[in-house]
Amino acid sequence: QSFKELNISDHILQGLYAMGYRKPSKIQQKSLPLMLSDPPRNMIAQSQSGTGKTAAFVITILSRMDFKRNTTPQALVLAPSRELARQIEGVFQTIGRFVEGLTVVAAIPGSIQRGAPVQAMVIVGTPGTVMDLIKRRQLDTSILKVMTLDEADNMLDQQGLGEHCMRTKQMLPQLNQILLFSATFPDEVKAYAAQFAPNANAITL
Ligand code: AMP
Repeated sequence: QSFKELNISDHILQGLYAMGYRKPSKIQQKSLPLMLSDPPRNMIAQSQSGTGKTAAFVITILSRMDFKRNTTPQALVLAPSRELARQIEGVFQTIGRFVEGLTVVAAIPGSIQRGAPVQAMVIVGTPGTVMDLIKRRQLDTSILKVMTLDEADNMLDQQGLGEHCMRTKQMLPQLNQILLFSATFPDEVKAYAAQFAPNANAITL
């Protein structure tokens, strides 16, 4: 199966080919048809790092953006550390480099000036910072449709992060797609994930 057969738009394909990705990895083959479905569906995917999971959700999010609204947040990605958030932001920039009008911002401690509006279509951040930005109304949530948790297992292990994710989700009643990626699924994570992303398609590598 090729990326083209997955109905990925030409500008995204160009970015994938420029990165040297010739065909979808196994997790991408399994998850992309489900994540790109219309109407959008929630997804719980078990996948280690190194399998191509970041590109899987980046492609999905880029495919769902309305480029006429490129200063308004439309997708949110939460990660357990600032380093990972920066790294994911970089993957959006590289895969999306031929996607005209793409705006991505990292929302991590110290990256957003207090009181300043967050004007990008994709927000990649750590849970506490993102939650605070929404509470302070610096982040407009009116058309925010897609929420992704990367390393969901690590966020639940760390005190506070899981709760920040849940509180954030509760402030986003208009979400239409929730994507969870986790390397492992111990029972606590499984229960939390099912609650966080109801009626999700589940896949395991
Ligand atoms: P991740 O699972 O997101 O940590 O990605 C692991 C590595 O795989 C990264 O270095 C990506 O650049 C690379 N990668 C992702 N998708 C593909 C693909 N379809 N073909 C080749 N390499 C890929």
